[in-house]
Amino acid sequence: MTAPTFFDAWHYDGKSAIKRKVEVQTIGQQFFLLETERRHGPFMFADVEYIAQKGDVDVYGLNGEDGWRLMLSGPVPTELAAMLPARRRYGGWVDRLGLGKATVAFTLASAAAVAVVLFSPQWLAPLIPSSVDKKLGDALVGDFGGRFCSTPAGDAALKKMVASLDQNPQDLQVEVAKIDMINAVALPGGKVILFDGLVKQARSPDEVAGVLAHEIGHIREKHVMQALLRQMGLAVVLGGVDGNSGALVNNMLAMSYSRGSEAEADAHSMKVLGNAAISPVATASFFERLSELDGSARSGDKGQGIAGYMSSHPLSRERKKAFEKSIVKGKNYKPALTSAEWTELRTMCTQDRKAKSGFGFDFN
Ligand SMILES: [Zn+2]
Repeated sequence: MTAPTFFDAWHYDGKSAIKRKVEVQTIGQQFFLLETERRHGPFMFADVEYIAQKGDVDVYGLNGEDGWRLMLSGPVPTELAAMLPARRRYGGWVDRLGLGKATVAFTLASAAAVAVVLFSPQWLAPLIPSSVDKKLGDALVGDFGGRFCSTPAGDAALKKMVASLDQNPQDLQVEVAKIDMINAVALPGGKVILFDGLVKQARSPDEVAGVLAHEIGHIREKHVMQALLRQMGLAVVLGGVDGNSGALVNNMLAMSYSRGSEAEADAHSMKVLGNAAISPVATASFFERLSELDGSARSGDKGQGIAGYMSSHPLSRERKKAFEKSIVKGKNYKPALTSAEWTELRTMCTQDRKAKSGFGFDFN
């Protein structure tokens, strides 16, 4: 019998220093630790030993496996808790989340229980009310530690681009952050953050528009909440963020979507670029240039560091081809922004001296 998978778990395998985000899948007396593309185990619950409690996290080891660690945070489902060795007691869901939120949790849980084993992010995500999504986004992102860049003309250019790519731009909050990394992320509450490093690498506003449209695609296709549930679990989504938003944001920046979700976001991007009469060819060549840069970063001469755009969005030949092919012959394409607007957008972070720069989200 397969119990629901528990998502709020991290794992060291004892062989490498990599801290892996995993899901715990219980099967009888055994369990597996699942990553997106890999499965560790099976391990026997009988071999698990309790090691320590660190803050909100319980740390477990495995008999006979030096350095093997499993870290669980938040309230662990009773089926899983029953299998684990003695540990500190958790308060019930009601104590932890408060009555109102717990009611939502139970409603969601029973709605999802209809689908029994389909208690999965794909099923749960659409059930999360948009007000929860919005609150979570605000709590997680806030003002991004003062890193958002703003100038009147830069803001106006960005606003124009967003409005050309989405019919309900008022639901979205798109920002450029003063971080010299090639990255772009979609976060809860309709937020998209373009890193200044990515904007500066772009040679035309059309290239930025393609990436932005892709991230908006993740929001419109509801991938963000799915990934958030997978990454952090229902408890965090409903319980909110209690003083650890830095770590959560770091997690979110490293978040990856399934291939299927990436393909949907690309399809969304190509569709809205077409509607806006922005050529998709620029996006294809931008992806190609970024992947070359990312390659040189990996070999050490560029030092892009953590979670670059291309590590979460590997360029496949199909992906580039799809963008190239989506061009419509004879269609009258026009630039996403005028050259004056593009200059304002590109230099917004340089102009805004008040915005804080850099990475490192220790703003607890
Ligand atoms: Zn994506």
